Amino acid sequence: MAIFDLVDFDDHEQVVFCSDKATGLKAIIAVHSTKLGAAVGGCRMWDYATDEEAVIDVLRLSRGMTYKNAMAGLAMGGGKSVIIGDAKQIKSEALFKAFGNALNGLGGRYVSAEDVNITTDDIAIANTVTPYVTGTEGKSGNPAPFTALGTFLGIKAAVKHKLKTDDLTGLKVAIQGLGSVGYYLCEHLHQAGAKLVVTDLNQAALDKVATEFNAEVVGLNDIYDQDADIYAPCALGATINDSTIDRIKAGIIAGCANNQLAEPRHDQALVERGILYAPDYVINAGGIINVSFEENYDKDRATRKVEEIYDTLLEIFNTADGQNKPTGRVADEMARKIIAAGGKHNL
Ligand code: NAD
Repeated sequence: MAIFDLVDFDDHEQVVFCSDKATGLKAIIAVHSTKLGAAVGGCRMWDYATDEEAVIDVLRLSRGMTYKNAMAGLAMGGGKSVIIGDAKQIKSEALFKAFGNALNGLGGRYVSAEDVNITTDDIAIANTVTPYVTGTEGKSGNPAPFTALGTFLGIKAAVKHKLKTDDLTGLKVAIQGLGSVGYYLCEHLHQAGAKLVVTDLNQAALDKVATEFNAEVVGLNDIYDQDADIYAPCALGATINDSTIDRIKAGIIAGCANNQLAEPRHDQALVERGILYAPDYVINAGGIINVSFEENYDKDRATRKVEEIYDTLLEIFNTADGQNKPTGRVADEMARKIIAAGGKHNL
């Protein structure tokens, strides 16, 4: 596998393969950029079909973190880690300690938090052997409710821009994935009067959201065909691809999942279909913004910073209209400008 030639290899500063036979740890840590500070980004546990799939995932996710942190105005670079394996089978205290030791090996160039299948309890175990974790209980804690708040505000910004209203009452939102973030997003949307149509692999998560928020449940593959105003991808990435794009009837795509577009060209494809896309790493930055307040945690200050996502997205939508460009490209250009300037405060 020629890693340096991969499309997703984007001059990453460092890619580290970590293994520990005794605990079964197989992890990859990707430090994309430390230009704005230590690379910060979550750890994902996933049963990848191949090692190549894991490498591509960590490369894409870590690059996304550089752009996300820059765009959110944080003094943090971008990195991400993946632990390969089935979360239901491989989790153990020893494994997360081994992961913590692997983090020590990078000496603070990368700081890890939670992502898919990694909980605050897992991070707390790693924290017994390494200081290079964040999003810990008792400090900033679980980032998911803040990611959900930012995503909710991002949906409101998209509705304001496209439908010219502040009112979500009666709008239909198709939500794919009811995990840590998706559940809280459903709560916000329900409280705002939106109608929910949802799907997930997990029956218990479906039952809970159906009962608590009066959500309509549909099959995994039916979520794309819904007559909804908004499609909110909140599970895994690449759900906007050649086989789904023509099925999406919603005029807005705004959800928390990372890497929603299977390929960069899908950005333009959405414009051609008249769909407004809220760039993933902008709308889902709420969690990392909250994590950036880890030391001397202040929930009000963190919340106010998360609320900035609304204005950032409006700026992207307006610039995209003005320059006749897809929103994802506009966001990338803005993020690159921030990184080149050494941070948002220098612009
Ligand atoms: P999670 O693991 O808690 O939830 C994911 C949910 O998606 C689970 O309920 C799972 O059953 C469901 N799912 C998986 N595959 C599915 C499919 N094909 N169809 C429908 N449902 C499916 O993860 P999370 O923390 O809620 O994160 C969700 C997404 O948001 C991920 O892409 C993650 O990278 C991204 N994200 C999360 C955070 C955060 O704060 N947790 C921050 C930024 C981005």
